[in-house]
Order: sequence, then C-alpha cells, then structure tokens
Amino acid sequence: MNRGAVAEISLTSIAHNLRCIKKVVKNRPVIPVVKADAYGHGAVKVSKTLAEEGVPCVAVAYTGEAIELREAGIDIPIMVLFERKDIKDFFDFGLIPVIHDVDTALSISSEAEKRNTSIKVHVKVDTGMGRAGLSGSKIIKDLLEISEMNGIELVGLLSHFSEADLSERSYAFLQIERFNKIREMLSKKIGRKIFSHMANSAAVLAFEGAHLDAVRPGLMLYGYSPFQKSEGFGELNRDVRSQKLKIECDKSGSIELKPAMKVKTKFLCIRNLPSGSSISYGRTFITNRKSRIGVLPLGYADGYNRLFSNNAEVLVKGKRAPVVGRVCMDLTMTDLTDIKGVTEKDEVVIMGKQGKEIITAYELAYKTNTIPYEILTSLGGKSKKDYV
Ligand SMILES: *Cc1c(COP(=O)(O)O)cnc(C)c1O
Repeated sequence: MNRGAVAEISLTSIAHNLRCIKKVVKNRPVIPVVKADAYGHGAVKVSKTLAEEGVPCVAVAYTGEAIELREAGIDIPIMVLFERKDIKDFFDFGLIPVIHDVDTALSISSEAEKRNTSIKVHVKVDTGMGRAGLSGSKIIKDLLEISEMNGIELVGLLSHFSEADLSERSYAFLQIERFNKIREMLSKKIGRKIFSHMANSAAVLAFEGAHLDAVRPGLMLYGYSPFQKSEGFGELNRDVRSQKLKIECDKSGSIELKPAMKVKTKFLCIRNLPSGSSISYGRTFITNRKSRIGVLPLGYADGYNRLFSNNAEVLVKGKRAPVVGRVCMDLTMTDLTDIKGVTEKDEVVIMGKQGKEIITAYELAYKTNTIPYEILTSLGGKSKKDYV
C-alpha cells in the first residue's frame, strides 16, 4: 500500500531522553507516560525499551492500553491514569489503578474482597486542574476512608499541574502547596509517608520543588520540551527552524533532548504543469510559472492537518518545498520547482531531519496553532511505524 507516511521511531533516542530525565531529577524513579500509543510512537515498542532501561512502571490513560501492553508481554507495573469502569481488568491484568473518587474505590474494594485478594492503588487529588481527582473540603476524609477499605492498599498519591508549559507559575506554586499540605496531613493520619508524584515534563525541567518521590513525564521522553517561550530557565531556543533542542535546566545543567520521531513519505507522482494551473480544492494556489508539482500520498485522513494548506513545508533533497493548495483527504501537493533534480524516488520528509534541514513538531504546531503533543499523536498515530 502506498498510502500515508512512515514514522521512523528511534528507540535509542527515547532511551537517551529517559537518561536525560533521570539526570535532571537526580535519579528519582521515573514513571514514563505512554498513553495515546506513547504519544504516537507505539506504546509496545516504547514500553519494552523503557522496561529494559529499568523504569519501575509505565503509565497509560485507559485499561485497554494497558491490556495491549500485557498481551505484548510487558510485565512491569502499569499505572492506569483515568479508567473508572473496567474494574475487573485491574485484577485480571495486574494493573495499578489511579482512583479519583470514593465510589470507584468502593467498587474496587468489593471486587478485591470477592476475589479474596488485595490491590495496590494510587489516589489522585485535584489541586487545581479541574479534571479528575478528589476535591473539596472532604479530601482528607475521603483519602482516609479509601485507605481503610478492605482489599485496598493505598500506596501512592498524585496530582496534576494544569499548566503543561508552566506559563503561569504562580498557579503551579499554589497547586504544589495544596498538594504538600494534603500529603502531610494524610501522612500524619496514617502514620507513614505516602509516596507522592506530580511532575509532568514542564515540572521536571523547571520546577525542582515538584519532583517529590517520582516524576511522570510524557512529552520529554519523545524529545520535546513543553516550553515554547524564550524567557526563564527550562527554556527552549524557540527559533521554530532551529536544529538545536538544547534545554537549560534549573540547576542540573543542560540536557539535549532528541526528537524520536521522523515522518517520511514517497511521491505518488511528480507533474510538470504550465503557468496558470490551479492546484487542489478551492483553487487557493495558482502557478505563476512553469512548475513541477509533487503529489504526496497523504492527507488529513493520515494525520496531516488541513491547516497545513499553503502553510507548511516538506523536505526534499535537504531543501524546503512548500505545500501548495489545500491538503486533501488522501493527497497533498508540494512545489518542487526551485529544487533541482528531484525524482519520484526521492524521500520526502514531513517532520524530522534531512541533510542540514529539520522540521520539528514545534514548527508544525506553531503553524497550526496547536502544541507538539497534538502533532506527534496525529502524525505518529496514523503512520506505519518503523523502529530504528
Ligand atoms: C499526560 C500526563 C502526564 C505527562 O504530561 P507531559 O506534559 O507530557 O509530560 C503526566 N500525568 C498525567 C496525569 C497526564 O495525564
């Protein structure tokens, strides 16, 4: 099949990025987040690599994702961040649920009793994300109630920052303050310290006070920093064309993350068109010279956003070729007129390096007013994968 693109995933880069994270957090346990098929990189292969690198646990969003990993032979602990319904699966597949409410805890407890077993759980508290977790004035009461339920071993406490890029730091400080207060009160009541984790990638990079007992990064693992601004530490050199992804960290020196995904394709065909030819739906591009137009076998159905119409570039022979006309469902056109000697056999890079040029997920995100997370999950998610 000629459709779409191939996402070339570098597992070596992912292992490298994990080592960078460990360096920044001074060897605290890292719980890598591999939800959404490891941000489009393929959760099975990525988790295998991470397990070989010795991570204590990986985190997914839903049980279905965890089951896929179990069925692929991954036997390290798997934390399930959001599932509330498929409770039996936690037991059948040996998963670690994150509990968000007392009712779910009750169901898990009665399932454990029925099976005459116990299950380790982590509980999430909402410190300001407003998405999931125990909240309100009864947090401590609820936590205690959960900790005393039969068959439930409360082994961890977590929360999540509402700023993926810490652009509003004062709110992050407020959240960590709330979280610290809760875990101290809980520890006092249950008479032991509770294993606590809160840091996403942004907090790993720029908020040492949030590293606590473990960290939970996602994006960094895949080679990108959530920072897109040019002030403050943890900053990224935010020239969208920059080849450097060197990041200055708070206190721990600098690290260099390596983007792990390259997305490439081949031409469907190259057409020679006269001046005045209109290209694609809506005639939004009309050639003003004799032109060579490359037709690519991918479109928005393959995760190549329609907002790239007349707006993005691809790499051919190490040079940038503009996308011309509207991106279609299955096809995209690119103007090759300024690049000499292109043949239908040449590789076309949608994202990643070719020669001296690079197109990063930041650049594509910037052009479509979104974040690298969405670029990686949509392009990677829809592409065939090739591991190197
Ligand atoms: C996605 C997610 C993370 C990882 O966030 P990044 O910004 O990718 O580092 C951590 N914790 C939870 C609960 C998440 O949902």
